[in-house]
Amino acid sequence: MLIHQGFHEECGVFGIVQHTEASNLVYLGIHALQHRGQESAGIVTSDGEELYSHRGMGLVADVFSQDILSGLKGTTGIGHVRYSTAGSSHLKNAQPVVVSCWRGQLALSHNGNLVNAHNLRDELELKGSIFQTTTDSEVILHLIAKSREHDLDQAVIQALKKVEGAYALLLLSKDKVIAVRDPNGFRPMVLGVKDGSVVMASETNALDLINAEFIREIDPGEMLIVNGSGMESIFPFTERRPSFCVFEQIYFARPDSMMFGKSVYEVRRNMGRQLARENPVDADIVIPVPDSGIVAALGASDEYGLPFEMGLIRNHYVGRTFIEPRQSIRDFGVKLKLNPVRPIIEGRRVVVVDDSIVRGTTSRKLVRLIRDAGAAEVHFRISSPPIIGPCRYGIDTPTREELIASTKNLEEIREYIGANSLGYLSIEGMMEAVCASGGHHCMACFNLDYPVNIFSDQPLSHN
Ligand code: AMP
Repeated sequence: MLIHQGFHEECGVFGIVQHTEASNLVYLGIHALQHRGQESAGIVTSDGEELYSHRGMGLVADVFSQDILSGLKGTTGIGHVRYSTAGSSHLKNAQPVVVSCWRGQLALSHNGNLVNAHNLRDELELKGSIFQTTTDSEVILHLIAKSREHDLDQAVIQALKKVEGAYALLLLSKDKVIAVRDPNGFRPMVLGVKDGSVVMASETNALDLINAEFIREIDPGEMLIVNGSGMESIFPFTERRPSFCVFEQIYFARPDSMMFGKSVYEVRRNMGRQLARENPVDADIVIPVPDSGIVAALGASDEYGLPFEMGLIRNHYVGRTFIEPRQSIRDFGVKLKLNPVRPIIEGRRVVVVDDSIVRGTTSRKLVRLIRDAGAAEVHFRISSPPIIGPCRYGIDTPTREELIASTKNLEEIREYIGANSLGYLSIEGMMEAVCASGGHHCMACFNLDYPVNIFSDQPLSHN
C-alpha cells in the first residue's frame, strides 16, 4: 500500500559537469537555492568510476561540512534542496535519490510533481518493484531501470514518455549528467558555464553566486546530455503548450533571478503597480508583508504616490522548530515571524501589500496585529489574483476547500480578514505585468485551466 503524506513541494536542483571544484560548487549552488526548500539537502558526485553521496535533513549549511564535501570526490555532481510539510519529513525522501541497477549507479534530483506517479507506482509494485521512498521521483528511476533500451539516454526518454506532469530534473550516472525539462516547462531550469564547465540550475541566482555565465533557459521538452566531451541537445517528446508557472514569478523564485525571459524583480514591481492602478485607495502609507510582498509593495507605493515604509519587521531566524502556542497567547504564531513598528503604523491609514492569500489565516492575523499597533485603517492589497485551485505541478497548496477564494467572494474574504478594504490583481493585470501572452503561462491556480489533466491519481510526495 502506498503511504500518502499530503502535499509537499518546492525544490531546487543544481548540477555541474567536469569541474575540479565540483562538490564545493554544487554546495554553493544549492545554498543559493535554499529558498526553494529548507527541509533536506543533498549532493551526489561522480569521479567517473563511482558515485559519492551525502544527504541530510535541514539547511544546506547545516547538512554539509568541509570534511563531508572533501569526501564527495570527482569532477561532476548534482544537488538538491527539498521542501515538504511535516508529514513526510524523512531522510529517506531526501534527494538526490541514489540507486544501483543493472545500468550501474544512478542519482536523480527532481523539481516538480508528476500527476500520474501513483498509477505508475501501483503498476510497478504489482510487477515486483520495491520502493525506497514515498516520492514521485523514484518512479522515474524505476522506469529507467526497467527499460529494455540498452542506451541510458534512450531509457530516460522511454521512461519520461510514460510520466505526466512537471519535472525539471538532473540525472547523474558515473560518466554524464542528463538534464530534462518537461514539455510544458512548468518548472524553471537554466544553463550556464563556469570556467568552461556546463552548469544547470533551477534559477539564475545560483549561477550568479559561483560567477557562472548565464547562457539560456533549458527549453520545455529539451533534454541535454552532458559529459566530458561536450553537450548534446535533443527534443525527444511531443511538443506541448508552454505552461510556465506564474506563481514562480509571483512568490516562489528569488527576485534577483531571471526567469522565463524576465527579471523576477521587475515582474513583481509591475504587478504592484498594476495592482495599485486597479485598486485605488485613500491612505497614508504602503507597507509590505516581508519578504514576499516587498517588491510588489515598492511598485504599489510608486503608483499610489504614497510613502513605502517597513511597518512590519520579519525575524529571519524562526526555522522550522515551532512551539504550539496556548490559547492565551494566540497571536504568537504570526508574531514569531512578524512584528509591527508601532511609531510607523499608529494613527495611519495603512495599505498592506502581500503576494497572495492562500487560506487567509496569515492576512487575518496580520490585520489584527496592525490594528493592535494603532492603525487607523487597514487596506489589504494582493499582487496576484484569488487562488481558487490547488497546484498539481509542484507548488505547495492546500486542497480546494481550504483555499479561501474558492468558497468566499471578495466581500466575504474582506470581512473574514477584517480589513477596511481588500483588492486583488486581476488575471489580465497579472498577464500584463509578466509581459507575456496568456498562452505561455500555467495559471491553473487562478483560472482552473490545468494544462495536464490527470486527476484520478493520488498525490505522492512531490519534489
Ligand atoms: P495564508 O495564511 O494561507 O493565506 O498564507 C498566505 C501567505 O503565505 C502569504 O504571505 C504568502 O506569501 C505565503 N505563501 C503563498 N504561497 C505559499 C507557498 N506555496 N508556501 C508557503 N507560503 C506561501
